Amino acid sequence: MDMTILGCSGSLSAPDNPASGYLLRMADGREILMDVGPGVLAQLESLGSPGSVDVIFSHLHPDHCSDFPSLVVWQRFHPTQAAATRHTLLGPSISALHLGRASADHPSQVDDFSDILDVHSWHAPVLQDAPVAFDDISQGTVYPAHHIGATVLYAAPAVHPTESYMIRVEEQDGSSLVYSGDTAATGHLAALAAGADVLLCEATWGERDDGNNPPQMHLSGEEAGQAAAEAGVGRLIITHIPPWGDPEGALRGARRYYDGPVELARRGMTVSIGS
Ligand SMILES: [Zn+2]
Ligand SMILES: [Zn+2]
Repeated sequence: MDMTILGCSGSLSAPDNPASGYLLRMADGREILMDVGPGVLAQLESLGSPGSVDVIFSHLHPDHCSDFPSLVVWQRFHPTQAAATRHTLLGPSISALHLGRASADHPSQVDDFSDILDVHSWHAPVLQDAPVAFDDISQGTVYPAHHIGATVLYAAPAVHPTESYMIRVEEQDGSSLVYSGDTAATGHLAALAAGADVLLCEATWGERDDGNNPPQMHLSGEEAGQAAAEAGVGRLIITHIPPWGDPEGALRGARRYYDGPVELARRGMTVSIGS
């Protein structure tokens, strides 16, 4: 697969960078849009493919989903490039209601977008303690498998104020990407990311959490580096740095714990994952 970063600004869009949105091009030809934050649809339009994407959400904070109603408009009404078939939407259990309200004409209405998208909820364990064995993941015994075409996806519960997930995306050949979404530190991150080729991990708090940040919310660069090292991933990409954040500090923090390749996510960057 390859991943093009449509936007990666943390918590809100920035002047030159939409908020969270990642386009995955899979080996079977499908395209999966992972999060749809503000500004992401315009970037997707520049690549020419909004009508043909499946959609997966880590969670439904506005910086991860607020361009979704516009994606619905494209897939439903574009005169020549509307969705030719129903695509898959995988997200939190509240997706149909929450996103349907965002697309509706009136506060009391819920837009039923099942004409264009087949909506499914992530299945993830509610476990206080994360498993540690990759085999548990690959056999689907701890993190149940989801399928979009030939792609296999797993979700683990994130620590965040709304229903949130970390996501593992795997090709048939085993090449794999793990996305932290938004989360505070949890053992599920290293468990889900075990052996992954790429860990795309948030580090909203910069180098380290100075103790003045809200609890149960985000990671620091140090915590991203710790998770990458524990999971033994091949490459770490730091993302979700807010416009007022400290990207260099996040890199410094990550490198303190992880000695593999680390870099910052950038809008427009394309990453090849696996063969
Ligand atoms: Zn966010
Ligand atoms: Zn969030």
